[in-house]
This record gives sequence, C-alpha cells and structure tokens, in this order.
Amino acid sequence: MPATRLTDFSKLCLHTITTKPWDIETAIAKYAAAKVSGITVWRQWLEDRDHNKVGNTIREAGLKTVSLCRGGFFPAKEQKNRQIAIDDNKRAIDEAAAIYAPHVVLVCGAVPGQALDESRKQILDGIAACLDHARAANVKLAIEPLHPMYAADRSAVNTLKQANDMCSRLDDPYVGVAVDVYHLWWDPGLKKEIIRCGKAGKLLAFHICDWRTPTVDMLNDRGLMGEGCINIRQIRGWVEQTGFNGFNEVEIFSNRWWAADQDMFISEIKRAYLQCS
Ligand code: ZN
Repeated sequence: MPATRLTDFSKLCLHTITTKPWDIETAIAKYAAAKVSGITVWRQWLEDRDHNKVGNTIREAGLKTVSLCRGGFFPAKEQKNRQIAIDDNKRAIDEAAAIYAPHVVLVCGAVPGQALDESRKQILDGIAACLDHARAANVKLAIEPLHPMYAADRSAVNTLKQANDMCSRLDDPYVGVAVDVYHLWWDPGLKKEIIRCGKAGKLLAFHICDWRTPTVDMLNDRGLMGEGCINIRQIRGWVEQTGFNGFNEVEIFSNRWWAADQDMFISEIKRAYLQCS
C-alpha cells in the first residue's frame, strides 16, 4: 500500500536539534509561525528553563509536544554509573511530563570494549528499573535502534528486530519503539518489523531525514529529505499500513544546514516534506 500523499503540515514535527542555532523560545515561535504542527524537544533546550513554562508556551503557540529526546545511555562498566544513568532517565521522564511529551526517546547506549550482549542486558535492566517511574508519570519509553555505525559507543540496539524483541521481553505498555529512517533504511527485515511493532501497538514515533553519499561526518551530515538515497515514502507507507497516525518528525543533524539561515532552512524542509516524504 503506497503512503498517503502529504498535502499539508498537520503531521509535520521538527526536532529542536534540527534548527540547532535557535533556543527553545525562538524555535517555538518560528515553528508556530511556519505552521509546523509538532515539536520534539531535546533536553539541552530545557537547561536553565522552567519546564512547566516551556510546556505551556508550546501549547499556547498551538504546537503539540511530540517527544522528549533523549534518555538512555544505560550501559556502563560500573554499577555506580549504571545507577546514575537510571536516575537521569527518571529526570528525563519528569521533564517529558512537564512539557506534555507522551514519551521519551531512548538512545540506549554502548560502552567501547564491552561486549554488545552485555550492553544489551544492561539496557534491558536499565529500562526495567525506570518503568514504575514512567507509569506514575504516564510517560512511555521509546527504544530507538541506531545504525550499526554507532554500535561501539552510542547504541548496542541496532535493528528494529532487536528493539521489538526487547519490547517483547519487557512486556510493558510503557515501552515501545521509535523508527528512524536514517538508522533503519538499509535493513531487509524492516517492513516485517514495522508491521510487527505497529500491530502490537508499540510504534510510538517516526523520524525522517535522508542518507547522503558520501556521508562526510558520522553524526552531523544527515540530509534533508530528497538529498539522499532513502525511500522515505515507501517506509512511511509501511508505517501507515499499521494504522500509525502520529507525526512525521524531521530530525536532521547537519553542520551544513546549521550554518544556513534557519528561516530559509524551514522553508526548504516544508518544500522537501511535501515533495520527498
Ligand atoms: Zn531519531
């Protein structure tokens, strides 16, 4: 089933990191003026701010808070540091509740030199340790698998199958997954796993951008939709097929785009959103 055609911006969400030069107040005002409908707030944008006030400013601007990014980074060699991570994730859950975000996206973490299986076990334990807190705050946790190029140091969860298997193991309504086309587009099992998590009611978030060739920076060279090789429309079709009715979240880390005029960048995002997503 092909994806529906995007003809308006009612499902367009921007991550604050996409327009990194703007602080939270500027981002909210500019997104609202541009008729963007949703905002995903990165935690750095909440530093030195009254979280409740930020949440209310988002609402008053007519935007919907889609997610808080990001928690996770559970694995560590020492127990003491794993506990620090769990405590920090509980703070992230509180921040999400304050800004009306229904879930926290988890970049699960990895430790260079530690076996990936051990890191995955620590991730499971870390998420499990946060679940009572998540339930009390009514904030879900979304496991975001990261591209395998980040397996050494950012996430030991690298396929949607691994994330789905973790959801099955944890078997809790407060755990789901975030699908990011940048991390998962290459996976021959992607369609099957999207259907799997969608049917299980575990598909919480959908992130879009593009993969540039060559990619000149592992972290900060993501492309605007249409600048790369990802068939976003096909993947969005699979996501829609599951009944997913959430936002298409534009998440672009890009030194090139951050150096550009951000008002012009938003115009480009809106054009690319309709033409290439
Ligand atoms: Zn993402």
